[in-house]
Amino acid sequence: MIYDHLLVRYGELTLKGANRKMFVNQLRSNVKRSLMPLQGYKVKANRDRMYIELEEGADIKEMSQRLSKVFGIYSISPVLKIDKTMDAIKEQAIEFAKGYNDGDTFKIDVKRSDKQFPYDTYEIQREVGGAVLQGAEHVSVNVRNPDHTIKVEVRLDAVYIYDEVIPGAGGLPVGTGGKTLLMLSGGIDSPVAGMEVMRRGVTIEAIHFHSPPFTSEKAKEKVIELTRILSAHVGPIKLHIVPFTTLQKQVNKVVHERYTMTSTRRMMMRVADKLVHQIDANAIVNGENLGQVASQTLKSMYAINHVTSTPVLRPLLTLDKEEIVKKAKAIGTYDVSIQPFEDCCTIFTPKNPVTEPDFDKVEKYEDGFDFEPLVQEAVDGIETLTITKDYQSDKDTETQALADDLF
Ligand code: ATP
Ligand code: MG
Repeated sequence: MIYDHLLVRYGELTLKGANRKMFVNQLRSNVKRSLMPLQGYKVKANRDRMYIELEEGADIKEMSQRLSKVFGIYSISPVLKIDKTMDAIKEQAIEFAKGYNDGDTFKIDVKRSDKQFPYDTYEIQREVGGAVLQGAEHVSVNVRNPDHTIKVEVRLDAVYIYDEVIPGAGGLPVGTGGKTLLMLSGGIDSPVAGMEVMRRGVTIEAIHFHSPPFTSEKAKEKVIELTRILSAHVGPIKLHIVPFTTLQKQVNKVVHERYTMTSTRRMMMRVADKLVHQIDANAIVNGENLGQVASQTLKSMYAINHVTSTPVLRPLLTLDKEEIVKKAKAIGTYDVSIQPFEDCCTIFTPKNPVTEPDFDKVEKYEDGFDFEPLVQEAVDGIETLTITKDYQSDKDTETQALADDLF
């Protein structure tokens, strides 16, 4: 089938009265970015839907696939724009039906917004349905539960006809909801947390704490790969890699063993907080989940959270692990996340961390040393990468070999 347009339906945008124009403009630019560098199309965004005009040779499959990842899109259909005549509609409907399998069922679904069109909805349905039955004898009608629905939209400018609806990612266009800093480990949870906030229109930058030589280049590569998967939805994502070894060692030196994990998390939070201000973001996002591990009890969250007044968003807070795993699989990060690479926290995890850390105690331990210069040093040492979905890291093989030797 040679389609000439992709019809893009907006999701919740319809609800956003006054902001609608801004949302549509943002979605239009996100769509254009997601289609780059493909050729052969023109984007026309109206108030209520978007048409992507296709030139000959446009790769519809690739385009639809990319668009299905763009937040703010409810669904996509490859469509044909045809003459506003009954004959043209019949002819095209028959063309669709010819492609169906033997014994398949169909129905005709009509939307008629041009009230001047000489046939009403029911007449179109009946006439087109009849024509299909005659023109493609191997199919039959089933209005309740058809294998195929041929949709006919009679609009002011033309008739649009299609029989395929590809689900979109839903949510809101990224760029309409402010910016956050995502704490991205190599685990299962944090990439999912990032996706959850992006779905609501929020832009993310990511921060990763790296502790060489305790964590290897491979662990870093894994985080880059996760960022790459996320960026397929939203375009380039900045990934800030923090040199965390010095801070972590210092924590282990001055803080009581049972409290090192709480304190390490607090240091992460302090670094993240400084970066939030630097990049002009409004919140920190992490993959914490209530009760999952020692660092994620309410008391622990209280002690960790206390070092910042920046809102900390925890989109996975109340989900069950199976639900998170399901989401991770759906977004394609799961297989990367389960690769067995060390992360900086597991390496330093004490045998017996406190699950209900006393907030006063951790502060008392930390008072024994002025961490502020080290926190600042970590921030100053940040390496920032811009990750796109086609990102190729130019791995330094020497460093890689060195890191490998250490394990
Ligand atoms: P995840 O699967 O996201 O690693 P988790 O269940 O393993 O989560 P923790 O390891 O306790 O949980 O980490 C809790 C959260 O802290 C993570 O979801 C992530 O947001 C953040 N975090 C942990 N380690 C790092 C790191 N090395 N760099 C950046 N953020 C981290
Ligand atoms: Mg983890």
